[in-house]
Amino acid sequence: MIVSVEKAAGIIKKGELVAIPTETVYGLAADAFNVDAVKNTFKQKGRPADNPLIVHISSTDQLELLTVFVSEAAKTIAESFWPGPLTIVINKRVNVPDVITGGLASVAVRMPEHPETLALINKTGPLTAPSANMSGSPSATRAVHIENDFGVDFPILEGQAPSLGIESTVLDIREEPFTILRPGAVTAAMIESQTGFKVQSSEKKLNSDKHSPGMRYTHYKPAAKVSVIDEIPSELKSNITYIFHSAETSESGESVYNYKGDFNKLAHNLYDHFRQADYLGHSQIFIEKLPDDENSSILFALKDRVSRASNS
Ligand code: AMP
Ligand code: MG
Repeated sequence: MIVSVEKAAGIIKKGELVAIPTETVYGLAADAFNVDAVKNTFKQKGRPADNPLIVHISSTDQLELLTVFVSEAAKTIAESFWPGPLTIVINKRVNVPDVITGGLASVAVRMPEHPETLALINKTGPLTAPSANMSGSPSATRAVHIENDFGVDFPILEGQAPSLGIESTVLDIREEPFTILRPGAVTAAMIESQTGFKVQSSEKKLNSDKHSPGMRYTHYKPAAKVSVIDEIPSELKSNITYIFHSAETSESGESVYNYKGDFNKLAHNLYDHFRQADYLGHSQIFIEKLPDDENSSILFALKDRVSRASNS
């Protein structure tokens, strides 16, 4: 059920949850300083308590509500990338509820680029918002995904659906070099060139439990098996979902998608294809191997999600 900013603010202030659109994916928003509301977010999603939530803010001033000392690094990054798909991990203030951070001494924060969601946060203050999907299923990128997971009466804030379709980059800025904990549309190279800070994004750290608790869970996965294929099969089956990107192949069926090199569009639709495959009862999704292109930031994030989805 689509609700106005006014209505959504009322729901949040009552301690209840509202799905919010952002430029990345939909979030499941709660008042960050209402412990019961935050707890309810974990309950509704079936999210493990040790997978911390990102706090969404609408102005850089609100950082002071979440951390004692707003570092120069945080200010520089905020100036260069906010509002936008970059989350920073900083030391948390003691008043930030432990339930948000799964007991960690740090808190993850970002300012989303979405007018209605920013207007809502202006009225309510900081909101926790994990992706608006049941834990373990692909992130919600369409209003209908939220209806499928939480029912048609679940309140969804008005405004444009997510344009990117892939979750934010998560960057730990507590010590230099900064560490990318989750790849997204903002890459290490972009952060380095725009801020001058050194950024590491080594796979070793990415897969380390110590650094981003959420990365050990099987996110981003549909029920259907996802496999990466090197070559496009000569015969396509009707009970399999195919996602291609090379220009030579053509779309030839309901569940055959060809992005002809448009990786932004592929990212925008990826989770919808995952969900659609499950809805159709397909047990297999084949994705054509994505190319290596250091210069395409979305491709980098896309490859990460595809590789996580295809890891058995
Ligand atoms: P989601 O909101 O479902 O897209 O997931 C949020 C991601 O941010 C998860 O991978 C979390 O582990 C990560 N995250 C949130 N808070 C922290 C934190 N304080 N330190 C490290 N990672 C965090
Ligand atoms: Mg999620």
